[in-house]
Amino acid sequence: MTPPDVRWDLGELAACGGHSTLEPDAAALRLRALAFARAHQGTINDLDFGELRGLLDERDAQADELGRLESLARLKFAADANAPGAAEQQELAARLGAFVASATAFLDRELCRLPREKAQAVLDAPVLAAHRHALAKLLAQAPYRPGQEREAALAALEITDRQRLITRWASLTAGLRIGTRALPLSRTISRLASKNRLWRARAAADLARALAPHREELASIQAGLLDLEQKAARARNLPHRLALADIAEESPGKTRVSVLAAMRRVSPLVARYFRLKKKLLGLTQLETHDINAPVPNLPRFTFEKASSLVLQSFAGVSPAFGEAARAILSNARVDAFPRPGKQTGAFCLTPPGCRLPFLFLNFSGTWRDAAILAHECGHGIHQALSSGLNASARQAAPALAEAVAFFAELAFFQLLLRRTRSPATRLALLCARIEDELTSAPRQAAIFTYEENIRGLFAAKGELAARDLDATWMTAHSDVYGKSVRLTDDYRSLWAVAPHSVVIPGYVRHYPTALCLARGMWRSRTAAPGRFAATLEAVCACGSCQPLTELAMLMGLDIASPALYQSAMEDLAELIREAEDEAHRSQG
Ligand SMILES: [Zn+2]
Repeated sequence: MTPPDVRWDLGELAACGGHSTLEPDAAALRLRALAFARAHQGTINDLDFGELRGLLDERDAQADELGRLESLARLKFAADANAPGAAEQQELAARLGAFVASATAFLDRELCRLPREKAQAVLDAPVLAAHRHALAKLLAQAPYRPGQEREAALAALEITDRQRLITRWASLTAGLRIGTRALPLSRTISRLASKNRLWRARAAADLARALAPHREELASIQAGLLDLEQKAARARNLPHRLALADIAEESPGKTRVSVLAAMRRVSPLVARYFRLKKKLLGLTQLETHDINAPVPNLPRFTFEKASSLVLQSFAGVSPAFGEAARAILSNARVDAFPRPGKQTGAFCLTPPGCRLPFLFLNFSGTWRDAAILAHECGHGIHQALSSGLNASARQAAPALAEAVAFFAELAFFQLLLRRTRSPATRLALLCARIEDELTSAPRQAAIFTYEENIRGLFAAKGELAARDLDATWMTAHSDVYGKSVRLTDDYRSLWAVAPHSVVIPGYVRHYPTALCLARGMWRSRTAAPGRFAATLEAVCACGSCQPLTELAMLMGLDIASPALYQSAMEDLAELIREAEDEAHRSQG
């Protein structure tokens, strides 16, 4: 029997003040942004705090209007990229975003030029409290803002050159037709997780062969992006390439050092786990195409079953989490299954004005699909709880947003494990969870190290060839896997399908931090479930109205302390020990 289709109803957008078409409202927003600039450009230093509050609120209102239009375009395109006008609307929304950003840029520019005492008074003004944290981040970026013309030139480079390179990269990889069956990249990647070893090995070899003719072009695109990044960093006088992103994303360099150090110490654990996996798969040597091989006896899920388990696990975390999950999963806000024309991947999006998010999934019944449902619901609840805030305070810092989603995955896993009696299934669940943690933490740290090292190489040589990227990619991964997994030759060019490094360089640094935070949150919850539930709800409802360090501290976690990362890795060691014991039991 085919399950009932689960698709969202975009008519729901109208219920939260959204739009059904883009064009007339886009034109109105352009005019509104222009009028705003005409009326207020050059006046910021002369405003009193109440007037400044009015301007910041108006800019947030414009950001919300833009967000509603972008949401409409994004949701339509994701659900059916070939629908008439879907691609054009995406482009229109992107151009609109660039227009509004450039028309209203004067506000940030002039705020950054305020005399020191006035800037401090702005931060202290009670009437500006709702904008305080966003203003603090903006003012911290002031030393790196070049003059107006330079800023405009950099923005133009960003919109034209960088976007052109990224689009070329995306079309090269999306256009790959792999193997004798000419499969697209997404299908080939899922074959790398197939039960059949021969299929996995063939998928890996086919992918490498399909990438071969494009490798040098992909390497030159990567070099082109690094060149633009270097120019921007020089123009802004950045001490290092992530200086601006670190401020905006609240990811202090000190934290990064602690996280990466903890991840570097993890390779003996990785080796221990892969020894177990090798035994479970009955192999004498693991190769890179075995990393994602499913362990035997992993359960499968219908969407209804997975949803019901997610609901129960969230209700166990806190009443508000349970209620929000129920509302999300029963409100025509989910597009659940893959189908032709639908984009790959998963995301959660809460259009401004809506109290509930839209969930986009490609659920096919695997363990990973069920965990992704929990993850996206975690994002959804976080967004739902902070939906009442103004635009500049709504979006949580990436490390915290991902931590809440990882925490949701962990709650789902713990519920399932508690309810599973069969030793073989328990073992499979433990292994799947360990692999998720290894992928989220040490592997993402390795990809971050790869990014850093290719930057260093480009800075030294002024160019990059595919073989430079190969070597850097392999070194970063052999640091994680050591001798436990043989890195096959066809693994070399997989840097070419690591989109984060190209589209949002540096972003992967948040994942290890987030996983360790989620682990810490689970510890705090275990120690005092009731108190933790109330704190978690308050933290989620705050969005980014307070600094990440303070929000983490409310949950009893010090993100600057190496101990947080150390204990997360101890939890992982404990999980591996449990899996080893369970393996022992099932064999005994
Ligand atoms: Zn996420």
